[in-house]
Amino acid sequence: MQQLKCAEILNATEGKLLSGRDDSTFSGISTDSRNIKEGDLFIPLKGERFDGHDYVEEALAKGAFGALTEKDIEPDGEKVIIKVDDTLKALRLIAAFYRSKFNIPFIGITGSVGKTSTKEMVWSVLSKKFNVLKNQGNFNNEIGVPLTIFRLEPFHEAAVVEMGMNNLGEISRLTSMVKPDIAIITNIGVSHIENLGSKKNILRAKMEILEGLNKKGLVILNGDDNLLFGLKGLLNFRTVFYGFEEGLDYQAYNVRSLGEKGSVFEIEINKKEYEVKVPVPGIHNIYNALASIAAGVELMIPEEDIIKGIEEFSPAKMRLDIINSNGIKVINDAYNASPQSMEAALVVLKEVSSGQRSIAVLGDMYELGEMTEEAHIHIGKFAAEQGIDYIIAVGDNAKSICKGALSMGVDKERVLKFENNKETSKFLGSFIKEGDVILVKGSRGMKMEEIVNKLTS
Ligand code: ATP
Ligand code: MG
Repeated sequence: MQQLKCAEILNATEGKLLSGRDDSTFSGISTDSRNIKEGDLFIPLKGERFDGHDYVEEALAKGAFGALTEKDIEPDGEKVIIKVDDTLKALRLIAAFYRSKFNIPFIGITGSVGKTSTKEMVWSVLSKKFNVLKNQGNFNNEIGVPLTIFRLEPFHEAAVVEMGMNNLGEISRLTSMVKPDIAIITNIGVSHIENLGSKKNILRAKMEILEGLNKKGLVILNGDDNLLFGLKGLLNFRTVFYGFEEGLDYQAYNVRSLGEKGSVFEIEINKKEYEVKVPVPGIHNIYNALASIAAGVELMIPEEDIIKGIEEFSPAKMRLDIINSNGIKVINDAYNASPQSMEAALVVLKEVSSGQRSIAVLGDMYELGEMTEEAHIHIGKFAAEQGIDYIIAVGDNAKSICKGALSMGVDKERVLKFENNKETSKFLGSFIKEGDVILVKGSRGMKMEEIVNKLTS
């Protein structure tokens, strides 16, 4: 981060200087008293369990040169103390100010699933031409996004920022900092429907990204998503659509699966045909590649370089991690699950298993509210439709997954249900044979890596 002046912070936050001098400077910003560096400004935030205000003294003792506060604090010598109404809002305002110092293209990415994967692929494409900043991992919320922005340095030439949300209003606050020049929406699914009530509301929440979009900016939307395609002609921004449907601006055709190695498709870009190899399996990665192509074209990266950027995409960064171990293949996607990503993972299982026994170990999907039962039944049906050989359901909703699979006429012997990871692992221990391909996936709280670890140890 470049230095920020105390006067700039006062200006951005409309805060009140309780102590210290307004010509002091800060070399960094930290919200975590455990990671303070000399010269930082400490911004205490209130979490569910902790209040950062309890650590202001510790942060200052560790070398922070100042702190924001919502409370009246006794002024302390030369250190800077700035009072603000709301420290989280102040963090956002400072990030928005810091971002405004950089005249480089920003790409904001939101959507129900595929944000991180798309961010990584866009980064890979843009890196062919620019020095690109991106969020680390999944730093996509109201704390992660400003901290990402503070990592901007003068050598950066573009930035890709994943923007996540649980509720209406969150993307609005994120886009006020990011001020994207390009906005990508990957799809409108049902993640977080518990908080948002309906898919329409989820669409509304994602559309908030446009509030901060540069007036001359570009909107890149998944055209195979009905709700997103429904926006055609309705937005006051240049808009392009991508997907497999005929007539979209970036349309993939002649798609061929290379199994575990990924897939190949053809596409017309600026009236010329190209073949693109996506080195990671799954149709969903073709979508992510298409969004990256649209972003690359907008930033005038030569087509050949865009395609190279996709071909060089590193699968190691993906969550769908294929582990070859003990003569079996385990597709580890235990990080999290939503109905859409479950479907994507089941398609990959089918692709990768070609000819071998395919086994889907599926755990509960959380945060689906009233849709919980229906969504689990649907996944059971979907797995059956894919022709997965064994459907093994784990957790409280296992019976719904089984119900869905059985309703499609799958043999009873091929549909099994277990209460927890331990029971499942025990069963798999004697069931698995050489050559099997096993997908393991469930919501974060299901901790299904326990099963992956047993299978691969
Ligand atoms: P989070 O909300 O946790 O940040 P995310 O939107 O960043 O999630 P990813 O981490 O990219 O999503 O992917 C989540 C899962 O969805 C992965 O398991 C991946 O296999 C699958 N996936 C990736 N891209 C897509 C896509 N475009 N459509 C559907 N599923 C996808
Ligand atoms: Mg993510």
